[in-house]
Amino acid sequence: MSTAYITHPSFLLHEMGPQHPECPERLGAISDRLIAAGLDGHLDHRVAPRATREQVLRVHGEAYVDQLEAASPAQGLAYLDPDTALNPHSMDAVWHAAGALVLATDLVMSGESANAFCAVRPPGHHALRRRAMGFCVFNSVAIGIMHALEAHGLERVAVVDFDVHHGNGTEEIFGGDERVLMVGTFQSPLYPYSGVEPLGDNMRNVPLPEGADGRSFRTAVTDVWLPALQDFAPQAIYISAGFDAHREDPLAGLNFVESDYAWVTREMMKVADRHSQGRLVSTLEGGYALSALGRSAAEHIRELLAHHAADKSFEDPGSKI
Ligand SMILES: [Zn+2]
Repeated sequence: MSTAYITHPSFLLHEMGPQHPECPERLGAISDRLIAAGLDGHLDHRVAPRATREQVLRVHGEAYVDQLEAASPAQGLAYLDPDTALNPHSMDAVWHAAGALVLATDLVMSGESANAFCAVRPPGHHALRRRAMGFCVFNSVAIGIMHALEAHGLERVAVVDFDVHHGNGTEEIFGGDERVLMVGTFQSPLYPYSGVEPLGDNMRNVPLPEGADGRSFRTAVTDVWLPALQDFAPQAIYISAGFDAHREDPLAGLNFVESDYAWVTREMMKVADRHSQGRLVSTLEGGYALSALGRSAAEHIRELLAHHAADKSFEDPGSKI
């Protein structure tokens, strides 16, 4: 069993203008760092399929999907909100990003992969059922979770969101759905200015003040996430892995570092081992300081790999606590 690394060429063609922080170079920063760290060769590289309409409609309204296809431009940019635009390649990327989560779900459910990382663009956790926002168009992690629930018959799935921005789309989609537990941390107040009042008993939101560092994060995880996950006993765990709480990130004001991402990855893998047969699917959300994004994602993926590989030669002893 291996760690799947799922991506697609269309993710490099989706662009929202020359100064936009959610840029194709983000994926290059991750893959470059995986190569430099000696991790790339240990990953099971997969090409994301296109999600089917049926898979997407488990989450999004049919009229919304049709509106997006109609809005897709032949040239230039079509703006869905002030921060979110489509270029001629974007809808291809949007469908394949959702498909990455579907494939990741199939791989961990069949046991073919121990776990998976979806290196996707655009991100998804701000996308509402019927509205794009915050660089997000389809809520890919929600589409993966619904596939686990409806196609694979799971009854309890957890979603973990450590992006610096509240995952308001995921919360809107699953708020009050007892099959799903969502645990999250985010800077507050900060875009999208939600999450302080949870939308259901199945939400464990921990707002963090500007300047909070990894100690605050680890306290939140230990005191709030872990007991909730223990009680819920998820059959699979999904991670909305945004790395924009890193101290070098230009879009927000938290002070996480690479070792915090490695730590939370290990903690979530322990939960997955205890309750979920190790089944864990992670997907890229934010992260806009390219070097910090590459380093943080690589440490996250190093932990995903370290769990199960017989060949531990890629482990860097210096990175271990
Ligand atoms: Zn974010």
